[in-house]
Amino acid sequence: MVLDGAGFNRPVRRLPLSKKDDRQMTDELEASCPGIVVRRPVPEEISGGEHHFDPALGHAISSWQAWATDAETRFRGSSGGVLTALAEWLVESGHSARVIGAAADTNEPRRTVAVQLGRKSDFLRQAGSRYAPVSVAAEGYSLSPDSVFVGKPCEVAALRQIGEFRGIEDRPLLMSFFCAGVPSQLATDRLLSELGIPAGSPLRTLRYRGHGWPGEFYAETMDGVRGSTTYDASWGKQLGPSMQWRCKICPDGVGESADIVAGDYWKTDDRGYPEFTDSSGVSALIARTKRGHQTIIAAVEAGIIQADPLDLRQICSIQPYQVERRATLGARLLGRCLAGWRIPRYVGFHLLRLASESPIRSARYAYGSLRRSWLERFRT
Ligand SMILES: Cc1cc2nc3c(=O)[nH]c(=O)nc-3n(C[C@H](O)[C@H](O)[C@H](O)COP(=O)(O)OP(=O)(O)OC[C@H]3O[C@@H](n4cnc5c(N)ncnc54)[C@H](O)[C@@H]3O)c2cc1C
Repeated sequence: MVLDGAGFNRPVRRLPLSKKDDRQMTDELEASCPGIVVRRPVPEEISGGEHHFDPALGHAISSWQAWATDAETRFRGSSGGVLTALAEWLVESGHSARVIGAAADTNEPRRTVAVQLGRKSDFLRQAGSRYAPVSVAAEGYSLSPDSVFVGKPCEVAALRQIGEFRGIEDRPLLMSFFCAGVPSQLATDRLLSELGIPAGSPLRTLRYRGHGWPGEFYAETMDGVRGSTTYDASWGKQLGPSMQWRCKICPDGVGESADIVAGDYWKTDDRGYPEFTDSSGVSALIARTKRGHQTIIAAVEAGIIQADPLDLRQICSIQPYQVERRATLGARLLGRCLAGWRIPRYVGFHLLRLASESPIRSARYAYGSLRRSWLERFRT
């Protein structure tokens, strides 16, 4: 996966392959690449336990509001620091051998890279969201079952799907987070110049958020020049609008293929809109599998995280973007198809059924998508 001129990671063919290897790689790619296909996993049931389902959030064995009990981890994490706390505890307690996640490149903090961490590593290195391209799955597809993988929902879907294609039963523990989509790397570069940090000046640090909740976009050069802006301004004006097309038609921004998935559990104002005033972070946490559920319970018992039960509907109420994107996706895809574009295959999400629940709104979305897709056809 290589960064292209538009600032997104794309697969490139590196080596000349034999015909047989080429066929095998193509088959694996077609069965696992989330740009081609995403299959909703069959839900696991827990004996004697409850099973929950919400059309926007998918299947769950349990759901929680949670945060890391270690104050530094909670402070440095994106929301409650839960993914970092779980990752560190799983490795340090010997449950897992390694964790693979994403962090700032130590030599060039403008860039984000996949990192593998083992015992005695600095786990806080990979705390916090990086709103930029990084291909963690490209490093993680051959991980052993005693590993923990943390990546975007599309990346955990890719790992699950490639494992299923190869007939592998034991896989790493898959952790993910709610994801609105990946901004272009160019948006980070533009944001830095807006903040007065010239391209090419060596950076000491660049973080997108964390250090409080939601925390700020913050960068500092080696000579001590600092630039920062609020989460709302950085995401709303530069990062969010640069998001790639595939993320706008994502069927699963809520990590249905993961064992455990975390999102922001924002506080909302009287109208139900998220409040972005800084406070101590809280994550919404969903266990989708028995393995995920048992991991959360064990981490609570070990005092690593604090977790209180939370209804899926409460999570929906503070995640309007995820709810809306899924509810309107069937209609938007229909418009795209009618304009003659190819779309990825989404299996098991019942997107058309979901769209048909609001026929007037869906007709509007389908028409809008058809119109935009036609115009795009003429332009290209
Ligand atoms: C691109 C992106 C979009 C997001 N969109 C939403 C959203 O719409 N709604 C929402 O509620 N939350 C969203 N989040 C997730 C949210 O910001 C938090 O990550 C989540 O609440 C978990 O917080 P935490 O404190 O428990 O995680 P932390 O303890 O801070 O751990 C974060 C983990 O995410 C990994 N990570 C960070 N950036 C990336 C990346 N670019 N690619 C792969 N792995 C990465 C790190 O390696 C780390 O393991 C998004 C995150 C990203 C990176």
